[in-house]
Amino acid sequence: MSVAKGGTAALRETLQAKLDYEQLTNCMRCGFCLPACPTFKETGVEAESPRGRISLMKAAVDGLMEPNVMFEEQMNHCLGCRACEPACPADVKYGQLIEQAREAVELHTTQHRWWVKGVRKAVFKQLFPHQHRMRLLGAAMNVYKKSGVQTLIRKTNAVGMFSSQLASMERILPDASGKGIVEIMGTRVAAKGEKHGTVGMFRGCLMDVMFTETNRKTVELLSEAGFDVVIPEAQNCCGALHAHSGEKEQAKELAKHNIRAFQEAGVDFIVSNAGGCGAILVEYDHLLHEEPEWHDQAIWFAKRVKDISTILAEKGRPLQYAALPQDQGTARVTYQDSCHLRNVMKGGQAPRQLLQQAAGGAYVEMKDAGSCCGSAGIYNMTQPEMSNQILEHKMENVNAAGVRYVVTSNPGCHLQMKLGIEKHGCSGQMEALHIADFLYDRLVR
Ligand code: SF4
Ligand code: SF4
Repeated sequence: MSVAKGGTAALRETLQAKLDYEQLTNCMRCGFCLPACPTFKETGVEAESPRGRISLMKAAVDGLMEPNVMFEEQMNHCLGCRACEPACPADVKYGQLIEQAREAVELHTTQHRWWVKGVRKAVFKQLFPHQHRMRLLGAAMNVYKKSGVQTLIRKTNAVGMFSSQLASMERILPDASGKGIVEIMGTRVAAKGEKHGTVGMFRGCLMDVMFTETNRKTVELLSEAGFDVVIPEAQNCCGALHAHSGEKEQAKELAKHNIRAFQEAGVDFIVSNAGGCGAILVEYDHLLHEEPEWHDQAIWFAKRVKDISTILAEKGRPLQYAALPQDQGTARVTYQDSCHLRNVMKGGQAPRQLLQQAAGGAYVEMKDAGSCCGSAGIYNMTQPEMSNQILEHKMENVNAAGVRYVVTSNPGCHLQMKLGIEKHGCSGQMEALHIADFLYDRLVR
């Protein structure tokens, strides 16, 4: 079974060039990572585990197996959630290995269907890097929702005929906007009261048109906490989806652009409100490690990145929150971790601390909150079967927690939880919210 352009020998050569062999040999096969891995928990199959995937990578590099279709599938089945990293006693940098493997696979794959190639090119190269095009997309989505086209599409099941997963995603589309945060608030928002520092807001390409209100509330929270907020207009997409999907060279170009934009803004911290973006932003130094001329600038950038919850919990003026309204006095609030915020940014504690302050005794920790929800960037589109299986198990835990609010820290997790709630017919009694929305709506000024 040949998978690769140029044959499996060509793919092996690229894997040999890209993969960090020292990291591959650092894995001592102990298996401590297995219980943390969602795809292993779902399947019980060694090849679907971190240890199994590392063994496949090493065997391919060592010439002990053909990097064939099965190899490519196993690399693509990984969610990239990186729950295996904190569980690993040998500190194996699994996230780096899987990105290197995917970059190699992407260079040689013959597996993409014609339309997947077209969509990838359009999304990665023509859409995400250009914020004005993202705003046009937001405006088009707004028209789609409000003009009656959406109603027609749903009645005729036009999307469902193409893909049932796309049809499910269509049902939970947020209210998009043709205006981003800069168009709404300008590029500077002053601190309220005593000033505690200057932060740069990383607006995110998708966040800025699909969750514009969340971005606005993030800026308001930062201003209330005593930060001058600068929103550099020149910033662009973080490059996370590119890096996770094997488009590393483009991710590097996006990173350089962002570093320049925030250096010119002269900020103390760079704040992200999306775990998926934040996780690559804190690793720009690694992303650019082969380019010595970017070394100091990438480190300058990476060490300033903070998630919105972390900066609110650790810096600035502590904020006060109103109790939940009387009619929601028994409402319970839980938190679904963003894998990248928890496993890469090590920021799982701050959201819980803030939610306990804002919701008091109504906060409950759900079982396996730290385990992936199955969203994982575009995984829920590319691997719908596994994604839905993981989501079903997640919803068992959400339902058992008996909550009204499921709070998240990442747009992908937010939409995935919305999808789970919709699929379980709970939309009237349960709501998925971004933490910035939850906190801002309870803010006492
Ligand atoms: S990144 Fe997540 S899905 Fe992939 S091997 Fe690690 S724990 Fe498993
Ligand atoms: S925990 Fe680390 S060393 Fe052990 S099998 Fe997993 S990746 Fe290898």
